[in-house]
Amino acid sequence: MKKIAIIGAGISGLFIANLFKGNKDYQVTIYEKKTSLEIGEGYGIQLSVNSVKLLNKLGFSSLSDKEKFNPKKIDFYQIKNSKKICDLNISEFNSDDCKYTTLKRSKLLQFLINRLDKNTIQFNCSLDNIEYSNDLINLTFDKEKITCDHLVISDGVFSKGKSLISNNNSEPIYNNTIAVRASVSKESLDNINEENVSLFLGSDFHYVLYPLNNDKNFNFIGILKNKLNSDQQKNHNLCNESTFIEIIKQKLSEKISSKVFQSLEDIKLFPVFVSKNPFIPPKNIYLVGDAFFAFSPSFAQGASQSIEGANQLHEVIINQKNDFYNSRLERVKMINRRSDFNQFAFHLSNPIMIFFRNIFLKLLTKNKKFLQSYLGKIYKD
Ligand SMILES: Cc1cc2nc3c(=O)[nH]c(=O)nc-3n(C[C@H](O)[C@H](O)[C@H](O)COP(=O)(O)OP(=O)(O)OC[C@H]3O[C@@H](n4cnc5c(N)ncnc54)[C@H](O)[C@@H]3O)c2cc1C
Repeated sequence: MKKIAIIGAGISGLFIANLFKGNKDYQVTIYEKKTSLEIGEGYGIQLSVNSVKLLNKLGFSSLSDKEKFNPKKIDFYQIKNSKKICDLNISEFNSDDCKYTTLKRSKLLQFLINRLDKNTIQFNCSLDNIEYSNDLINLTFDKEKITCDHLVISDGVFSKGKSLISNNNSEPIYNNTIAVRASVSKESLDNINEENVSLFLGSDFHYVLYPLNNDKNFNFIGILKNKLNSDQQKNHNLCNESTFIEIIKQKLSEKISSKVFQSLEDIKLFPVFVSKNPFIPPKNIYLVGDAFFAFSPSFAQGASQSIEGANQLHEVIINQKNDFYNSRLERVKMINRRSDFNQFAFHLSNPIMIFFRNIFLKLLTKNKKFLQSYLGKIYKD
């Protein structure tokens, strides 16, 4: 029996552990640095059909409508005048049992955890060191040492596992944006279609509102351009500091209507760090999810790609193949280009450029050929 060690119980680590469940040829353990999983929080996540299809293999379609939502369209608005620009029918990519889905991140984590045996996840295990020879990998967590045949590193964007094997040569870079997450009750929202994802475009800022379940609790996620100096970038506690929170809240209040601003509850800030260069690890060590490549959140593909990557890695390990990175890299680069382009187009400030962007948006969101190539390649392939 081969031993697989997974570092980090995020979406990618939990998903791949689920795929190995019941396979008698492998013994899988997830090592998670936290003392428990924070599944109480109510923030949302969007899953496109490419990842919903893979989650359905684990029974995701049986989650009730109370726990998830299937938006039909993305409505584009301009923040300045609250006018709708156009809409995009994302349900065109749906099939009967596989639909674009929004839900609380905690529901997704809970779903993935519930299917695992209790002792699959070892908490309080922060990875300290990795040593590897031809066939065996030795890991150190505090004072405990373990050995495994395959190591899956899925410890997120600031991956310690990746730093250890790359000698700190593949660190993420700050994307000059802060992500602002909050909850909003539907009573505080006017003039949006509650069945859809609403995407508001502004100068150096955009925000997205979407329902999390049929009770129509909404998730707010805003992406705000904001430079940080190098000390601030290194400070992992920055977004918990009250002075910094107040500065960002002030900036945010200047970008959105006072009604929307006042309706935001449980605001949380995340500086957005993205990958620059992918790193290819040595034999039998694999990177998945944000540890492999972190995108800017403007295409909402991070979690979906974490699931896709984990699925592909599972196939590679059980079929003893060697071709994980070539196809993964191609896909990741394509999505990264689109995420960056989205952010650029969503944040335009120049009125002439905005005028032309809106014309293109109106045309392209109704152009089937374009949609098949821009979204279909990601959602369906
Ligand atoms: C604001 C925001 C909004 C987003 N919205 C969406 C969305 O709508 N749709 C979408 O698809 N994606 C979205 N994403 C991206 C998505 O959340 C991530 O891509 C995804 O969660 C990555 O999963 P992961 O498993 O790779 O890493 P993570 O979820 O970060 O999990 C990593 C785990 O590893 C653990 N860990 C870290 N270090 C160690 C260590 N040294 N030892 C042991 N364990 C360790 C951590 O505690 C954590 O549990 C968003 C991201 C942000 C920032």
